[in-house]
Order: sequence, then structure tokens, then C-alpha cells
Amino acid sequence: MTREVGGSEGDVSFDPKSWAAPAEGARATKPAASVQPAEATFDPKSWAAGTTPPLPPAAAPSVEPVRRSTAGAPPLVFAGVASALLLLGGGLAAHLTRVPIAAPAAVDAVRPAALPVSAPADAVTASRRTLVVAGPAEVATTLASTGIAPATAAALARSAVSALGDAAGEIRMVLDLVGAEGARRLTRLEATRDDGSGVVLTAAADGSFASEPRQPKLVTQVKVVRGEMDATSFYNAAVTAGVTDTLISDIAKALSYDFNFATDIKAGDIFEVAFEQKVNPSGEAVGAPALLYVWLQTSTKSKALYRFLAPGEAEPGWFDGNGRSTVTALMRTPVDGARITSNFGPRFHPVLHYNRLHGGTDFAAPVGTPIYSAAGGTVVSASPSRCAGNMAIIKHDNGWETRYFHLSRYADGIVAGARVTQGFTIGQVGNTGTCTTGPHLHYEVHIDGQKVDPMGIDTGSGKVLGGDALAAFRNERDRIDQSRAGGPMR
Ligand SMILES: [Zn+2]
Repeated sequence: MTREVGGSEGDVSFDPKSWAAPAEGARATKPAASVQPAEATFDPKSWAAGTTPPLPPAAAPSVEPVRRSTAGAPPLVFAGVASALLLLGGGLAAHLTRVPIAAPAAVDAVRPAALPVSAPADAVTASRRTLVVAGPAEVATTLASTGIAPATAAALARSAVSALGDAAGEIRMVLDLVGAEGARRLTRLEATRDDGSGVVLTAAADGSFASEPRQPKLVTQVKVVRGEMDATSFYNAAVTAGVTDTLISDIAKALSYDFNFATDIKAGDIFEVAFEQKVNPSGEAVGAPALLYVWLQTSTKSKALYRFLAPGEAEPGWFDGNGRSTVTALMRTPVDGARITSNFGPRFHPVLHYNRLHGGTDFAAPVGTPIYSAAGGTVVSASPSRCAGNMAIIKHDNGWETRYFHLSRYADGIVAGARVTQGFTIGQVGNTGTCTTGPHLHYEVHIDGQKVDPMGIDTGSGKVLGGDALAAFRNERDRIDQSRAGGPMR
């Protein structure tokens, strides 16, 4: 499928030489308003000598950038005139609408004194079109459909694809065309991928094309989002505040060492998160965002955590401002965003119908919600039992044991003998076994063979970084704080 994200054509006249070599930076996203009457004094000779040229008229089309959500979803919003030009469906090149590239008055104003070599200026019809195709395989057919000579189209497609590579992914093509319908000639083709990498092919006087590679132009942006917990769920609150949804599980996990999502968090509590995202020259997100910072303030406590890859570690961890790790003996909540439906202690059993000790904490959560190993350790067993359904038992390095009941499924690799790290996903919430009346996780902690209240134990505090690791952490903390304050990324 090809879509045209904007286009421009007008029967305006100007010097094709000045157009054929548009100034770098005079890219499609530049507003047409850049052609100012002030440039009327432009001297073409000084430009040829290499000084900064004024913006040539055709280099300032009314092309709107494609906007996307940060989640990388397909483009949703096409602003302004481009929305009227958006056509969905295949092979539509012949039906595309164009808009004038610049006001004729402005063009006249910047027309250099020298007349074009190839054709009288008033016979030249120029247009710029921006087409986005699904992948390299569609470059050739799309070029062929633009009205340029088939042999030229095929040769250009070969050059472009050899520069772009054949990996899947959208290709954005910006075509500068001259000539009327039926005798259209391409003067410049820019073909780029999401990250801005690609090639520019520029027509020479002899009809050949010069090829100039474009390097990837990704910029890392830091986004800071602040929000308020609502009464429904952290997920809702975070999405409402503008957090990319793929980060929400990471946020909950980072906070789960210090907060019990089921009991500590109330509507009105405030959170802030910072994450970095690579964006291409059009401002579109490329690749997955990465969480940098998480802050949560409840009525009783406040915690700010920074992501940091400590020297010698395989994975980044979370540290408070003083470099103290969040990793404790056990995570507070081994499941995201769940609410406690039954605490440890004696109770009338809803299924068995007599009073007995409820040996763990029940967290209600939808089927499929990930369950984490509360600490590093070894899987003792991962197999079904009558009452507990699919159960996992993990023995931790300090001798404690944690048990997880009623799983809908185990995560890959969770078998007896497997090593797990703290926070590792071991399975998903379910409703298996006879001792359950709805989807939930029944979670037990055993110390010295005795069941203890998982919410009542002292989980200890994490280790503080030292030496060079602490110095490196402080640099990273300051970098994150500076970006949060709106300063430049270092
Ligand atoms: Zn239970």
C-alpha cells in the first residue's frame, strides 16, 4: 500500500537549477512561510559560491509531517491540508491531489536573474510529492506509478533499495518532479527509513543520478509525565497522564519493592515518571521507550527511584537518590496492580466452609496478569495440585520459600530446578484448583517451614552502591534530574 502524506504542485515558474539543489535543511517539514519577501534580494551568484542559500520555493511544500502516537501505532492524525489528501488503498498514485507549493508572488520574488538552461522558465511545472510505502519491495512499483519514464523509475528503485537495504519497514519517499503530465521528469528522490537513514538521488545534466547517503538521525528525547492515581487502576491513571502503555508494567515493578499496590495507594496519590524515547527527524518514535525515573507520593511516604546499570550487572536496577538498591529480601507485591481480597489469618473458608488459617495473601487480578518471583531463587516445583491448582514453589537464597497458587499458566522455562531472579515473571494469574472462587493469586511465604504473613514480614533494605559505582550512579542521577528539569540530555 502506498499513501501520500502530502503533495504539492503548481504551475509556478522559477529557475529549475535553484530548485534541483535544494538547501539542506529545507526539508519537507519546513513551513512554506519560510519563503519571505526579504529573500528577494538574494543573489544567485553568492549562493553558487557556497554561502547559505535562501530557501528555494519548491523546497518548501505544504507537506505536513506524519504524526504518530508514542507507542508507535500507525499514524492517526494528519494535520491541516494533508488530512484531505490522505488516501487509503493500493496503487493510488494516479488519483492524488496536489496543492500549490508557494504563492506565485513569493516565487517571482526569489527567481534568480539567470534563466534556466533546459527550458523556458514559464514552461516548467514543478511538484514535490511525499509517499510512504510499506517496505522496500514497493519502491519500484510506486516510482513507476508516478509518471516518470519506466526505465528511469526502475533504475532509481534499484539504487534506492540497494542503499536502503531490504529489511522490512516503511520507506518515505520525497520526489521532486518537473514537467507536465505525460512527460514527467524526476530531479531528486529522497528515500528514507523511520530513523532518517537512506539515500538522496539527484539528477545530473546528463540524465544520470548522483547518490548521496543519508545517515540515521535519531534524537533521544526525555519525556516527563506527572499524574494522579484514580479510583480505578494505576494503568488507567498512567495512560490518562500520557505514559506509554508498554512502560506501565515496568513502573509498577519498580515501585513494588517499596509499595504495596493493594493497600498503600489511594486515589489522589501523585506520581511522576521520566522515560527516554528515540525519535526520527519527523518527530516519530523509533523503537521502544525506556523508563528512567519513577516517583510516587502517597499519604504516608514518598519514593523517587532512578534506573541505573551498576558495573558488572547484566540488567539495570532501581536505586533511590542515595544509591540504595530497591532489591530487598522479598518484593512487597509479586503481582502488578492487584488488590488484596483476603489477608493472612483465620477465616471462614468460602469453599471448604469451616474456619481455618488462611495461610497467605490473596491478590485479585485478571487472568493473565504476570506474577513475579518475590526474590531470586530456585524453582522447587511447578506442577498442579488439587486445591492450589497450578502452583509454583520457589526456594530463596536466604532459605525462605514463596508459593504461588491458581496460576492460569507457567512462564516458559519455569520448571523444577530453574533459577529465577527477583521480579522474574514465573506465570500468570488464573483460577485453577478447587480452592478458588475467582481469578486471584494466593501467595504464601514460609520461613523455617512456617507460614508467615507475607504483608507482615520485614523485607529488609537494599544495599547501597559504593566507590566508583556510586560515583557513576550520581552522574546518571544528575543527568536524569537535569532532563526532568527540562535541561538538555547529556
Ligand atoms: Zn488464598
